[in-house]
Amino acid sequence: MKTIKVSVVTPDGPVYESDVEMVSTKALSGELGILPGHIPMVAPLQIGAVRLITGGNTKYIAVSGGLLEVRPDQVSILAEAAEVADSIDVDRALKAKERAEQRLHAQKQENIDYKRAELALQRALNRISVAGK
Ligand code: ATP
Repeated sequence: MKTIKVSVVTPDGPVYESDVEMVSTKALSGELGILPGHIPMVAPLQIGAVRLITGGNTKYIAVSGGLLEVRPDQVSILAEAAEVADSIDVDRALKAKERAEQRLHAQKQENIDYKRAELALQRALNRISVAGK
């Protein structure tokens, strides 16, 4: 089976690198499945899970937005933040979820940045979901 090199990098440094048979991820335009030999492309990413599939195994990485760059032999994910499933602190994500929900709830009374709280909630929900995989 052919493989493609994938690297996940954040401003804090590299998070993950391996050779996989398929990369599946959520671009702003929708779900993308990338196989070796894919045509070159660049796409902005949603907050979501990156799935790395090799030999029937799937590895999950939580990605908090960023850019996907595809070349025929290499996929680069330049993410604002990214965590491999087993390195996610679920308690922290649950607390972040609660904080964001409280902010969204209070936003009518106070002048709270709604979009910012909504993105924080999405990041927390994504981490909770990926940690459970
Ligand atoms: P929090 O409010 O808990 O900091 P956040 O969504 O604001 O959450 P980010 O700004 O997206 O956090 O990330 C800051 C750094 O902390 C990044 O390096 C990210 O990978 C890491 N991080 C955030 N939440 C978690 C988590 N639940 N488990 C592991 N690492 C996390």
